[in-house]
Amino acid sequence: DRRRATGPGREDQDVIITDVSARVFKHTTRRHSDTAGHAHPGPAHEVQQGILTIRTEDGHEGHSFAPPEVMRPHVLDKFVRKVLIGQDHRDRERLWQELAHWQRGSAAQLTDRTLAVVDCALWDLAGRTVGQPVYKLIGGYRDKVLAYGSTMCGDEIEGGLATPDDYGRFAEKLVARGYKGIKLHTWMPPVSWAPDVKMDLRACAAVREAVGPDIRLMIDAFHWYTRTDALALGRGLEKLGFDWIEEPMDEQSMSSYKWMADQLDIPVLGPESAAGKHWQRAEWVKAGACDILRTGVNDVGGITPALKTMHMAEAFGMNCEVHGNTAMNLQVVAATKNCRWYERGLLHPFLEYDDGLDYLKSLSDPMDAEGYVHVPDRPGLGEDIDFDHIENNRVA
Ligand code: MG
Repeated sequence: DRRRATGPGREDQDVIITDVSARVFKHTTRRHSDTAGHAHPGPAHEVQQGILTIRTEDGHEGHSFAPPEVMRPHVLDKFVRKVLIGQDHRDRERLWQELAHWQRGSAAQLTDRTLAVVDCALWDLAGRTVGQPVYKLIGGYRDKVLAYGSTMCGDEIEGGLATPDDYGRFAEKLVARGYKGIKLHTWMPPVSWAPDVKMDLRACAAVREAVGPDIRLMIDAFHWYTRTDALALGRGLEKLGFDWIEEPMDEQSMSSYKWMADQLDIPVLGPESAAGKHWQRAEWVKAGACDILRTGVNDVGGITPALKTMHMAEAFGMNCEVHGNTAMNLQVVAATKNCRWYERGLLHPFLEYDDGLDYLKSLSDPMDAEGYVHVPDRPGLGEDIDFDHIENNRVA
């Protein structure tokens, strides 16, 4: 009985980790990265993806996806295997703490992103072992949640997201698909004329005009505006009835966010990309640098610390919105009360998000016509992995 781990007279083979492995494989996508790392549509091309697998002695497996660089051999050999092999996979908290302690002595080689993929694979293993979705193991709060449509950054593609009217037209399509909220990523370099606060506000005004007053709107603009530019953006958004302003300045400067939040009525959301996991997020709450906290499984080093940020925010009467799509973030949203949304995207007029990924047999975040994403009933993280695709497209 796999639901019972160990008992009197039983060996620990159910729970002891004996193998940690990474596979790199090719898949086809129409997403391309620009010189600043932002995704845009383009012709189909092959890219590489990694899957980390943690295995117990009797063959149970947990899996999580991340770019190959996150699970490169040096990192797995030097840190991950040293911490995991021979240990009880159910001791996620201890394993996470030990990995986090290794970061200091790792000469910056062991990143939060690697902590995240390991933690996610451990959660997936726990769920698969007992045949339960991860959010039910944590303690479920809901099995469906409203999604906001999160656009790609602005571009210079004709009919894409090149003008304020393009954003307005696309917003109408998203509302017709069922979305009750939309977040704009506006123009950033390498777009030739970006960034530009006035153009950001024109796009936001065009979207508000297109969707009317009842659709919730948010912005995630250029991340390196000055304080005065960011304040001007926030004041403009207040007139358009936006729900939050996200990362308009470098988050390394918490004081700048405190300065901005003190002057704006529109809620300030953050931090997303700032380092420091739940510890740094506690500092932002204490400083009054944000009104809505931000976390994300990849940003803070796993589901385990993401839950700490959610619960810390709850204790301060704050929402904490979860950054990014994918199954791991949906599991966090489904296991907590104090967030309104699941972030679905990134979306663009020339891409069909519902087509999914070629290494997953079905969507991890299917959305109905009312804009609710339903949490899959599958065990673990709920990803419907096409293992044949992975094996048939292995990169040596
Ligand atoms: Mg963001």
